[in-house]
Formats: sequence, structure tokens, C-alpha cells
Amino acid sequence: MAAVVLARGKDQRIKAGHLWVYASEIASVDEGAAPGDVVEVRDFRRRLLGRGTYNPASTLAVRIFTRHADEAVDRGLFERRIEEALAYRSRLFPAETTLRLIFSEGDHLPGLVVDRYGGFLCLQEVLAVLKERLEPAGIYERSDLSSRVREGLPPAEGILLGSVPEAIPVILDGLEFRVRLSEGQKTGFYLDQRLNRREIVPLSEGKRVLDAFCNTGGFGLYALKGGAASVVGVDISATSVLRATEQAALNGFAGRCEFRQANAFDFLHELDRSGEKFDLVVLDPPAFTKSARSVPQAWRGYKEINLRALRVLSPGGFLFTASCSFHLGAEDFLAMLREAAADSRRRVRLVALRGQSPDHPMLSGVPETRYLKFAILHCS
Ligand code: SAH
Repeated sequence: MAAVVLARGKDQRIKAGHLWVYASEIASVDEGAAPGDVVEVRDFRRRLLGRGTYNPASTLAVRIFTRHADEAVDRGLFERRIEEALAYRSRLFPAETTLRLIFSEGDHLPGLVVDRYGGFLCLQEVLAVLKERLEPAGIYERSDLSSRVREGLPPAEGILLGSVPEAIPVILDGLEFRVRLSEGQKTGFYLDQRLNRREIVPLSEGKRVLDAFCNTGGFGLYALKGGAASVVGVDISATSVLRATEQAALNGFAGRCEFRQANAFDFLHELDRSGEKFDLVVLDPPAFTKSARSVPQAWRGYKEINLRALRVLSPGGFLFTASCSFHLGAEDFLAMLREAAADSRRRVRLVALRGQSPDHPMLSGVPETRYLKFAILHCS
């Protein structure tokens, strides 16, 4: 097997548990290593560090699948890793059939993401083992992330197995959802916020709620379930607004909510000017930065929406605010919220700081697997 040999001193991260080898860390690559091959990763003394898949077209040149000298990267490895991922979830979510089954590095399967929606699976890479183990009625591939193109891989999307309905009916916490795998961003639904959405339910009774960046209405529907007097949802995507409206109607909430297509920045600005107040505000924007370089710019964006949200909160209101930018760390996120709170001249309490749902596990050696920050603020 061909080896990728790291430059001297570039093995520290891998030894500490990380699974990524960057092209810039490589001193030499044995002849014959072809794209997609399993290669050995060795330190500058040629001591074995692990085995992984090689992609010379990417800055992320090797993804390590095993560190054990006697473990091969073969079907058996995938079977063991998938079994482990399933066992982990059956402890945390017994009997749950809508969740993230496999979370890439977090499950020691770098590059593989699989979501389960009842009898259907959606993946962003494919493995035959899943078909056998779960016997799903259908598997849909969504390997269409922009990162794939950056790594020199063609985008791929479509049905891999069986048949997949356009809208998969799914029940979460007693709410009915219709998940459209082909249409949604990600794999159709944001499963990483599933436990955070529950936090809004007990605070919603009789309240006026603003769900900004609502997508298909996740947080808004939970607020309505909790008895919200009214929900206004805002998203820039017309399709998302349509689906949120449909899902609200499906759950019998049509009279208490309104979803609008708008730029949330403009919408918040307008509310701030008009003086209209809300008791609960949700901010769940897309990642404003995908690189360390543009963190300052992203910071300004996050601060702007959080400041405006604090200003439109009625006294005693709660803000539910998230960031899924890995490059804006938890401490940065809190610092940004402190600035927004100070500028708002409101007295702000941090009620809770949460993260992604545990079906998106964080691998201790790979900080990038911890990406979602979710804070609940109380505003006097
Ligand atoms: N809260 C949602 C997930 C939000 S995902 C849930 O619980 O499911 C982020 C959403 O922000 C996407 O639906 C995207 O269309 C929307 N979006 C992106 N930029 C926006 C903008 N400037 N204004 C409003 N919505 C925006």
C-alpha cells in the first residue's frame, strides 16, 4: 500500500486524535497512490499513524479511517463503524426513527453523512452496508455540497435504492413534517436543532413569536405547539416559506401563523424602526462564514441581527439564537452576544448555552465536529 509521509512536526494533530491530513503537511507521497486509494499515513520517520482515503485534488488530502496497524479499511471496518454508530444512537434515542444515523468524523467515518427519516435514508456519500443493515424502503443520495466540487468530485444526487416519495411524512415530538429530500438544503431537514426546538415549547403559551431564518418552520411549529398566540416566520427562500406554510396547516396551526418571504436583515431593521415587539425571537441563520478569514465580517453580521432581535424583544422576552459557523467558536459567539447585549442597553441573562443534537456527535480529537452554538437569552 502506498504511503503518504508527513513532514517533520506535522504529525502532532493526527497523534492528538484528528483525522485530517492537509496537503501542506505532506513531505512525500509514494509512487502509485491514485485518487480514492486507501493509503498509509506515516510520520517523517515512516512510523505508521493510520490509514485513510487519498484525494490529491483537495487541500484535505487524506481522511483517516483507522489508526490501528492491523485494521484494514475494508467492508468489515464500515460494518463495525456503522454498528457502533447505530448502537450509540439506540442508547440515546431508543425507538427514534428520524435522526442523523452517521455524522462523518463524529462517528469515525470521515465524509459520510446519513440521515434517517423513518423508512428512508438520505446520504451525502454511499455505502452498501446500510442497505443490508437497515433494509430501507429507499435511499436518496445528496452528494451535491459545494465542498465536493472543491475536492474535485462531481456532484451526485438521486435515488440509489428503492423508491423515495417526494415528501416523506415524519412525526417529531407529535408534530407532523413533510421532508423533501430533493428540495431541502442539507438532506431536507435540519436535524441538528431537534432538541433545541423543544426548548421553545414551554415558553410559548400566549406569546408573540418571530422565527427568523425559519426554513420549513421548525422552531415556529414548536412554538405553536406550545400555544403561541402568533408566529411570524421569515425566510429568504420562497420554497421554504411555502413548505413552512403547508406544514403549519397540516398541524392545524394555520390561523395563528404567517410565513413571509423576506431578507431577515431587512425585516429586523424594519421591525426595529416600526417599534413592533415580540415576546420570543428565534435567529437560526445559515453559516455566515466558511473560513477563518471572513470571521470578522461574519461577526458583524451575527452582531447586527442579534442586536436588532434584542431591540424588538418585549420586556421579559427570550431570544433563541444560533450559529452553525465552526470558525466562530463558542467563546466568540458568546463575546459577540455580549457586545450586542451591551449595545442594546437591555439587561440580558444567558439562560442556556447548547450545541448540536447528540445524533451529531463531536469527536474529541476533531474540533471541527463541534459546530453548532445555540444560546437562550432572557432580556429584561
Ligand atoms: N430554523 C430552521 C433552519 C434554518 S436554516 C429550522 O428550524 O429548520 C437557515 C435558513 O435561512 C434557510 O432556510 C435559508 O433559506 C435562510 N436564509 C438565508 N439567508 C437569509 C436571509 N438573508 N434572510 C432570511 N432567510 C435567509
